Amino acid sequence: MAVSDKMISKFYGSRAWRMLRTEKLNLNSLCQTCLIDTPSKIVEARQVHHSINLRSTLGWEQRFDLKLLFSLCDSCHQSIESEIYHEGLAAARAREDEELRRLGG
Ligand SMILES: [Zn+2]
Repeated sequence: MAVSDKMISKFYGSRAWRMLRTEKLNLNSLCQTCLIDTPSKIVEARQVHHSINLRSTLGWEQRFDLKLLFSLCDSCHQSIESEIYHEGLAAARAREDEELRRLGG
């Protein structure tokens, strides 16, 4: 099943997600990534991140699973999102290279 932008934006606008997000932030009110990197660092979490990309079938099916959510501060959330973005680009480029090799060889 393809997960469309529309499905994702509808999900993020839903009451169910807002409640789940609040529940997660109550459970882990500090940035979990900052805590792992520096246990003494206390940074308030403001974002809730899905550890499995929502655009994948697995991520979408498990979008309400509290265990797959991470509480993050703005800066960690931003760096994770940009990593995912760059990984996505790298994977797309690798596929293109593969395709070119196949056509060329
Ligand atoms: Zn952080």
